[in-house]
Amino acid sequence: MNVLVLNAGSATLKFQLIRTDADRIANDQDERLAKGLVERIGGEALLRFESQGKPPKRSSAPIRDHRAAVDVVLRWLVSDEADTGLRSLADIEGVGHRVAHGGERFTRSVLITPDVVRGIEDMIDLAPLHNPHALKGITAAREVLGRDIPQAAVFDTSFHHTLPEQAYLYAIPYSLYRRYRIRRYGFHGTSYRYMAYRYRKLAGKTREDTNLVCLHMGNGSSACAIKGGISVDTSMGFTPLEGLVMGTRSGDIDPAVMDFIAAKEGLSIHDVDLLLNKQSGLLGVSGLTNDMRELLAEELEHEDRRARLAIELFCYRARKYIGSYLAAMNGTDAIVFAGGIGENSPEVRARILDGLQWMGVELNAERNESMTRGREGVISTDDSRLTAWVIPTDEELLIARDTMRLVHGLELPH
Ligand code: ADP
Repeated sequence: MNVLVLNAGSATLKFQLIRTDADRIANDQDERLAKGLVERIGGEALLRFESQGKPPKRSSAPIRDHRAAVDVVLRWLVSDEADTGLRSLADIEGVGHRVAHGGERFTRSVLITPDVVRGIEDMIDLAPLHNPHALKGITAAREVLGRDIPQAAVFDTSFHHTLPEQAYLYAIPYSLYRRYRIRRYGFHGTSYRYMAYRYRKLAGKTREDTNLVCLHMGNGSSACAIKGGISVDTSMGFTPLEGLVMGTRSGDIDPAVMDFIAAKEGLSIHDVDLLLNKQSGLLGVSGLTNDMRELLAEELEHEDRRARLAIELFCYRARKYIGSYLAAMNGTDAIVFAGGIGENSPEVRARILDGLQWMGVELNAERNESMTRGREGVISTDDSRLTAWVIPTDEELLIARDTMRLVHGLELPH
């Protein structure tokens, strides 16, 4: 089955075309036929299209809205230039969407029906920055491919529906949870589900025997405690602002600081919220950039003090989370790194793990250095009590597989 995976952002549309079915899943032979990105939708958009085995093609074109973006992507996918083997739009048999927030209702991926669309709309209150875009992607795909195209929604929050009350509740009046569902939801769930699945395969473990502390570190970063194969705690909360230090987000902060900044700087609470989401984290501390690669270069080449400080804050917070999740889980078997930073920076991985030798994790420097650019494997020594891994994440693959299973009425795995 050919599945188009869509991830719609405010002015972006990421896509992948994946061929998958039960046999391909069993043999790990899903085919990635094409992928790409449309940026700056609403103006002169930048397009980056790449089909299997060919160099990426970059171009620009005026693209009005998400519908126009989906239209351009689909026309390219069936073109001679893309050479995907698809002859017409009818060869696309399903569409899978990444949806940020599923609230308490969507604990698994689902086929999209009018009722599901209403459910995703209901969640806009909880995810005003994210869910509206997913809805645009769903509508656009239906308009271009027709009403009968099966579509599935895969939620960033679903994997964390197993969090126990003690992990998801905030210690605020319980009535606020009852009235408004204010609680910790967690995000990056599809990424964690992939890491757990892939670890099981590589390490030869059963789901029940999958005990991990996972770190997804990219522009947005979070940690997840996985015990017996399920999520028991995670660092993002009601929104993605909580937890680790991120590219432009502060992560954990005393909430009283918001009122204080508002009073001192003459800002509204909304402005302070933006400041904590967009001008903080690595960018805020360094005063230079939210890009970890650039910070590492600044530190190395110019010994920039604030770049070093930003990296130290980032690594220290991650280390504290690993420690606290070990306490929460009564120990773990492995630590797994993923995301742009987790997959590509041996330096950051080493700095996070430095100081955790007491809990039995010993890094193998050579393995750590070699694990970059999509390589997966162990980075700890052979006699390390706790293993450390790099597992490049693949959310699109799980979205495609879930979509295929839902369309064919197959059972969804955890
Ligand atoms: P997103 O969360 O937007 O998907 P990514 O997962 O692509 O982001 O991660 C982006 C981050 O990964 C950036 O901070 C970037 O600097 C960092 N990164 C990518 N390659 C490297 C590298 N070789 N060394 C350090 N950081 C890197």
